[in-house]
Amino acid sequence: MARERADGPCPACGASRTPDAAAGALKICPACGYHYRMEPAERIAYLTDSGSFSEFSGNLRSLNPIDLSGYEEKLSEAEEKARMKDAVITGTCAIEGRELILGLMSFDFMGGSMGSVVGEKVCRALLMGAERGLPVALFTTSGGARMQEGIFSLLQMAKTASAAAELDKAGAPFFVVLCDPTTGGVTASFAMLADVILAEPGALIGFAGPRVIEGTIRESLPEGFQRAEFQRDKGFVDLIVSRRDQRRVLKDLIDLHGARRGEKSDKDREHKDTKEKREKREKKEKAEKER
Ligand SMILES: [Zn+2]
Repeated sequence: MARERADGPCPACGASRTPDAAAGALKICPACGYHYRMEPAERIAYLTDSGSFSEFSGNLRSLNPIDLSGYEEKLSEAEEKARMKDAVITGTCAIEGRELILGLMSFDFMGGSMGSVVGEKVCRALLMGAERGLPVALFTTSGGARMQEGIFSLLQMAKTASAAAELDKAGAPFFVVLCDPTTGGVTASFAMLADVILAEPGALIGFAGPRVIEGTIRESLPEGFQRAEFQRDKGFVDLIVSRRDQRRVLKDLIDLHGARRGEKSDKDREHKDTKEKREKREKKEKAEKER
């Protein structure tokens, strides 16, 4: 597939991109269904209940932890280009009246790379979900770890993964929507740890890019390698969801998981009861043995 250019023709079918062809607010090619890349503000507009999004941790800014020359300038340029302070925006919102925590990454901000700020904000979103018993949905797009922050960028993989484990322990659901492209350290950490992994049609999803892999193994890769559909067939993705259906699917998933605190299903309670009973019984048996 050709590379997407701003205002260029559809990279999938070559249809020209008139204002009409951007298919209104959803940026879907009307000829073939190709999903153009999208920035967080555009997603908030079509995903969330009008006016419900309330950002948190919006003032976090990256330092230059390894004193790399030129990094501060790069950050300022990215801030201007993406109109964001780093590559992810997090907030509370509602979808069809269901409260959730939403995080959206921006590819315009240094290729959606994950540095200390992205890691911290993703962590806070996941931990807030754990604390409040709310579902967390993250829309990912990333070239991987932010090399300009050296080891500090790689640390974010362990940090976000452990926050995802906290959310899991709290029993609140975690959903990820993999958007084009999701690669590197983001794929290798929180993006693959969700309870349900969704993807946008045609999104590139992988660790290393296809060119790097081809260069390493010196073999040509199969058709559609690392696209969302391929990853679904291989079991990495649960469901491919068009932007037209994302609100409905997220709403259904939240309902299915009974996310609100204290609304665990009877089955969960039953399971807990038997677990507690079993532990009590084992304790008693152990005490009897020791006697
Ligand atoms: Zn098209």
